[in-house]
Amino acid sequence: MKYFTLKELSHSDTALARGIDNYPTAEAISNLTELVNNVLDPLREKYGKPIRISSGYRCPSLNRSVNGATSSQHRLGQAADITVGSKEGNRALFEIIRRELPFDQLIDERDFSWVHVSYKKSGNRKQTLKL
Ligand SMILES: [Zn+2]
Repeated sequence: MKYFTLKELSHSDTALARGIDNYPTAEAISNLTELVNNVLDPLREKYGKPIRISSGYRCPSLNRSVNGATSSQHRLGQAADITVGSKEGNRALFEIIRRELPFDQLIDERDFSWVHVSYKKSGNRKQTLKL
């Protein structure tokens, strides 16, 4: 964990507004750490500029509040939604991950409005999707 903190990976305006305690479980912290060490930190090094986490860990109650899928990997701390604030930049992030990094699922969300990426300790599917 060099460029990202647990705090930003579990921050949620929705959780704050609704009084939801979104502090990650021990298992989620372990998964978030793997996600950062294997994907997000290397991505940040390769991209060379700051990357913002728009959504990382979501406890079950927060996940329900944002209408997340019940199977969402955000619930396990295995996924993050990332953006650099432009579609061109987000497309660049997507391509770096696809070509050079390990991942489970990599999703182009709404024409690169943001990128969803997940990572598991084992059994990564290397699946790319467009939603
Ligand atoms: Zn996501």
